Amino acid sequence: MFASLLLFVAASVSVKAAPFVKRGMDQVISNCNHDFAYTWDDGPYTAHNDITNAFNQVNGKTTYFMNGDNWSCIYDQANVQAIRASFDAGHQIASHTWSHAHLTQLSEAQIDVEIQRLDEAFLKIVGVVPKFLRPPYGDIDERTASYIQQRHGKTIVLWSDDSGDSTGGSTQQSINFYNAFANENPKRPHMTLSHETSPSGYNAMYAGTVGTLSRGGVRLVTVAQCLDTNPYLVVQQRSERDSTWYCGGTWNPPTTTTTRTTSTSTSTRTSTSTSSTPAPTCVQTYTSKAGDTCASIEGQFGLQSGSILAANSFLNCQDIWVNTPICIPPGGSTTTRTTTTPTSTSTSGPAPTCVSTYTAVAGDTCAKIEYNYELPSGSILAANSFLNCNDIWAWTPICIPPGGTGCTLKISTVAGDNTCSAIASRYGITVAQLQAWNPSWLNCNDVWTNTPLCVRH
Ligand SMILES: [Zn+2]
Repeated sequence: MFASLLLFVAASVSVKAAPFVKRGMDQVISNCNHDFAYTWDDGPYTAHNDITNAFNQVNGKTTYFMNGDNWSCIYDQANVQAIRASFDAGHQIASHTWSHAHLTQLSEAQIDVEIQRLDEAFLKIVGVVPKFLRPPYGDIDERTASYIQQRHGKTIVLWSDDSGDSTGGSTQQSINFYNAFANENPKRPHMTLSHETSPSGYNAMYAGTVGTLSRGGVRLVTVAQCLDTNPYLVVQQRSERDSTWYCGGTWNPPTTTTTRTTSTSTSTRTSTSTSSTPAPTCVQTYTSKAGDTCASIEGQFGLQSGSILAANSFLNCQDIWVNTPICIPPGGSTTTRTTTTPTSTSTSGPAPTCVSTYTAVAGDTCAKIEYNYELPSGSILAANSFLNCNDIWAWTPICIPPGGTGCTLKISTVAGDNTCSAIASRYGITVAQLQAWNPSWLNCNDVWTNTPLCVRH
C-alpha cells in the first residue's frame, strides 16, 4: 500500500520513472541466446554497403546500431540507399540514438528526442521503428533503462565481446579477435561490437573476417534472431523524401506521438496537478557513494537544502544506497566535487585513497579506465586489488586513485557540443574550468564531435 503510494508520488512530481530498486541490470541484454551476432555501431558511414555485401556473400546477417546525425546525416542520399539495401537484404536496423548521446546524463525530454527523432527517420527511410537500442558508450543505468523500456518499448542491448576497434585496437587485433571465434570449439553464443566508422573495424571486414567466421562454422545472425524475437515495433510503408528529411536545426516530437505509456501512468500524471512545481531537469547524474545523504550531496554541489529530495522524490535522504543514480538539479554553485574528502582507508594495509568512485560499465577494462582518467598503467588494479582487469562487471564501484590529472569525468563530445559554452552549460561548469581541465589545443569556438574532454574535477 505504502509502496504503491510512493510510486504514484514519484511518477507524478519527478522526472524519475520509478523508485530506484537495487537489483541487477537484468533488463539489459549483453549476449545472444544462441549463434553469433556480429554488430556494427555509429553508422551509417562509408563502408556500409561493403559490410552488407560481405554478409550477403556468405548468406549471413548483421545488425546496424545507427545514429541519425553523428559521423554523417542519416538522410543523405547515399545513406538512405545503403540503409534500404541492408534492410531489404534482411539485416537488422537498430537504434544508437540520434546524436550518439550519453543517455544517463539527459533529462527524459532529451531522451525522448534522441530516440524519437531517429525512430521517425527509420520510419521514413525503411518503414520500421526498431525495437532494439544500444546506448552509446554502453552508458546506461537503472533509471534510464527503465524509462526507455517503459516509454519507448525498446529492448536495450550491449555486447558480449568488444573488438576494441574504437579504443585503439589495430586492424590485426580485430582480425585476430574474429579468427578466435571461427576457431572456437565448441562454439558459444556471442554478440560482438565493431564500428562502421572505425578503420580497424571495417578494414578487418575487408580482410575477410566475415568469410572466415562463416567457413569456421559460425552462424551469423541478427541480434533479434539470436534472441528469438521481433526486431521491430512498427512495420509499414516507407515514404518519399520531403522537407522533413534533414539533420541539424531543431526538431520537436510529433504531437500525435505513438507513445507506449500505460493508461495508469497517464492517469497518475493528470490526477496529480496539485503538485507544486514542475519536474526539474538534471544538469548531471551523480552516482551515490557510501555515507551520502541528501545534505552531503547538496553540500558537494552547492545546492539549496531540500533540492536533492525535490529532484529525486524516491530517495530516503538518510539512507541512500550506494550507486544510486541521483539527479543533480540546476541552481548549484560551479564547484562540483573538487573538495571531496578522501575516503578512509582500512586498517589492514596501505590502501590508496580515492579521488572519486567510478561505476563500471560493460566493456570496461583496467586499461580503458586508466586511459579515461589519464592514470599510469597498473594503477587501477593497485587501487582495486579485487578486480579481474579484463573482466570487469558492469556496476562495479571502482576506486579512482590520485595520480592522474585530477579529472573525475571524461566525456566524448557529441553533435551540438560545438562550443565550450554549450558543453559547460550541459555539465554545470564554467568555460574557464573546461579550458583549465583540458589541453591547450581546445578551440572553444570549434569543438569537434567525439573529442575526449574532461568535464569534472
Ligand atoms: Zn557508438
